[in-house]
Amino acid sequence: LTDEQLIRIRSQFGGLQHHHEGRPLVYLDNAATTQKPSVVIDAITHHWRQHNANVHRGSHLLSRIATSAFEAARETVASYIGSQSAEQLVWTRGTTEAINLVASGLTDRLNAGDEILLATTEHHANIVPWQLLAERTGASIQVIPCDKHGQLDMTMFHQLLSDKTKLLAIGHASNALGAVHPIKHMITAAKALGAITLVDGAQGAAHLPVDVVDLDCDFYAFSAHKMFGPTGIGALYGKVEALASLPPWQGGGEMIEHVSFAGTRFQPPPFRFEAGTPNIEGAIGFAAAIEFINKLPEGWRTHEQQLRRRAYHGLSKLPGICLYGPSEETNDVVSLVSFTHDSVHSKDIGALLDQQNIAVRVGHHCAMPLMDSLGIHGTVRASFTVYNTLDEVDRFVAAIAQIIQEQTDEAEPVMVDSAVP
Ligand code: PMP
Repeated sequence: LTDEQLIRIRSQFGGLQHHHEGRPLVYLDNAATTQKPSVVIDAITHHWRQHNANVHRGSHLLSRIATSAFEAARETVASYIGSQSAEQLVWTRGTTEAINLVASGLTDRLNAGDEILLATTEHHANIVPWQLLAERTGASIQVIPCDKHGQLDMTMFHQLLSDKTKLLAIGHASNALGAVHPIKHMITAAKALGAITLVDGAQGAAHLPVDVVDLDCDFYAFSAHKMFGPTGIGALYGKVEALASLPPWQGGGEMIEHVSFAGTRFQPPPFRFEAGTPNIEGAIGFAAAIEFINKLPEGWRTHEQQLRRRAYHGLSKLPGICLYGPSEETNDVVSLVSFTHDSVHSKDIGALLDQQNIAVRVGHHCAMPLMDSLGIHGTVRASFTVYNTLDEVDRFVAAIAQIIQEQTDEAEPVMVDSAVP
């Protein structure tokens, strides 16, 4: 991206203008949540100011306008991931709720002896719902190992996959290491043995082109807030027959066709899974975020890769740094770096960066089993997105270099509270 393009993009993000004690914010926690562009904020406030009403049930003009904005949002989000129809997209609170919805719906389909196949790299959102399902059904969980680069052991994957595998639930990309998994290959192999397939797309949808028809997955779950949209809204894509095979999971208004005390008939998907008044403004904000992404200049994904490569390269030159995740050259990675230092604790690095108004995330990144398998408690993660600049990456790497120098200089040990001049 050119400097002008970046300036134009950044000018849309009020959150990036933040300063603290004269230091401009360097926001490198985008894998946790991104900042929001004004088009998203405006879409939400416009909805509230101009056509706030409940959806799907009003016999008045405002409700009709709100309903059509809400359903148009469904079309926009569905088509972003290549869904053939908007009816295949269920609104949820986010990836976590989307996965829980599927796990709940599979309760009657799994039995003792069945297996659920996951990867070591999974986020807790793609582990815990399956553990609960396994407890309910007597099924067991099998885990594909990975190395420190986040590469899955594909030999083990093929060994673990069998006709006992009822479900493959796999992250599109690891939020802790950045590795993009070979999901298409894995879905094809799992489907050949009759398994249901679900992709945790929380990181994938935010950075990679997604085509659910080409992937041929049964389900794809993702969150708006990691791709410039609001929190509290996300979506579950499902194949027509996959959604139709799931029973309702929450009951209430909106999801029914007819209710009587003798029994209730439910709506077809997606409404069957959307009990109660939905997050109307969230859906509208999500669609505005997708439109923002659709209008980004060509080359924005290459820019993200350049940011990552520059950070990885810079960090790899520093003493005592251990980098996790894919190597510098690869493009099979979402734009983040994850590392530890052999003598400075990740938490101290995070606190010292914070003193310079550089925002990163430290810890286990909701991937404790992955951290266990790497033999560590956590990492420092800097995660980039389109609005970050090479200059910010350089500031970040320089800050890390300074922290290492100060913290490892035995003659002049520097306390965390006074490390930054
Ligand atoms: N999966 C992955 C890979 C994630 O990065 C996240 C968010 N950190 C989630 C699932 C959960 O997403 P949410 O909190 O939006 O439901």
